[in-house]
Amino acid sequence: MTKIICVLYDDPIDGYPKSYARDAIPEIKVYPDGQSAPTPKSIDFIPGQMLGSVSGELGLRRYLESLGHTLVVTSDKDGENSRLDQELHDAEIVISQPFWPAYLTAERIAKAPKLKLALTAGIGSDHVDLQAAMANNITVAEITYCNSISVAEHVVMMILSLVRNYIPSYQWVVKGGWNIADCVARSYDLEGMEVGTVAAGRIGLAVLRRLKPFDVKLHYTDRHRQPSDVEQELNLIWHPDVESMVRVCDVVTINCPLHPETEHMFDDALLAKMKRGAYIINTARGKICDRDAIARALESGQLSGYAGDVWFPQPAPKDHPWRSMPHHGMTPHIAGTSLSAQARYAAGVREVLECWFEGRPIRNEYLVVNAGKLAGVGAHSYSEGNATGGSEEAAKFKP
Ligand code: NDP
Repeated sequence: MTKIICVLYDDPIDGYPKSYARDAIPEIKVYPDGQSAPTPKSIDFIPGQMLGSVSGELGLRRYLESLGHTLVVTSDKDGENSRLDQELHDAEIVISQPFWPAYLTAERIAKAPKLKLALTAGIGSDHVDLQAAMANNITVAEITYCNSISVAEHVVMMILSLVRNYIPSYQWVVKGGWNIADCVARSYDLEGMEVGTVAAGRIGLAVLRRLKPFDVKLHYTDRHRQPSDVEQELNLIWHPDVESMVRVCDVVTINCPLHPETEHMFDDALLAKMKRGAYIINTARGKICDRDAIARALESGQLSGYAGDVWFPQPAPKDHPWRSMPHHGMTPHIAGTSLSAQARYAAGVREVLECWFEGRPIRNEYLVVNAGKLAGVGAHSYSEGNATGGSEEAAKFKP
């Protein structure tokens, strides 16, 4: 029988929800490119309820225990002797989430001789040392597309929030003020601005489509070019590299995966090439930006604003400069874990586990590493190597 460790974020501070703001969520059966949403044989949860926190258990316990497997669910993942470290020695499957990442470093993989499957309940498996997974013949899979539209919506929200100076204006109301000039001294219209995305994959393209009605000028850079009909439909300007794109953009949204090629792409040198007063929205991965360079650019005015919900490491230490830098609009990695998204990735995890235990192949579009090589979505979007280095700093977070 198999031991499965599932690392999830903590329940709400007031306890696991007993009721919800809405009674149901829309059912999404097909994604915009025609890929079907997860198709498990059955589920043991109610879509729209909290599945991503410890007590939600991704709705897996009944299914796994009915097959005689052992399920360990914990949020304790960092620091000396975490529960994750204690349980790894005989685990065959680790399920983890990008939001509260169980960093599967080479050291941890060495402590887990039975580990065969590292499954990401979400999108983005950079918290797994992919090089070590390849070397140890561990399959890595994620639930492709499950929350891409969730993130695209978050990006649009953050662009508008920064450009229109929403968060400080809201705070004036809460403080009892009516300080119109204070609010509008940094407030602009998005209309007419040049907006560019680093990567036009599932999220990047969805962001471009959602921004078109705002009458902005749309740019993108990616390793592969969009078909010409898509470029025409959205009136897209393609750039062969990130430098040429950021030079002309007022707003830059980052939507590529983190891998050795994209790590610290936005450093002092690249930020200096941007227009003074540009905005960056990074919902992809914190490490794509140089942490201190971003804070410096906000302080000097080179950037007007920075928003996103991805950090490195996660959870971010209390003294992480992105918590206190000026003109930011950060959230704690929530874009892809709305209750709507949770229902899709929990169903996707169930689908992958059904395949695993029934000896059926996992969908190719879910695979990141298989049989010692990058595979499926991983072969398309990632490069070999490891981007987990430095993750032990997450242990500095104390609630
Ligand atoms: P996709 O795989 O659909 O798209 C990724 C795109 O990035 C691909 O088009 C790929 O190019 C491109 N790319 C890879 N490397 C580079 C590079 N060096 N320069 C330019 N483009 C590059 O993934 P998604 O759009 O679904 O997700 C993107 C990322 O967003 C995830 O990897 C994850 O890190 C993050 N994410 C964040 C979430 C959140 O909650 N904040 C939730 C979900 C995802 P090509 O394929 O053309 O080679």
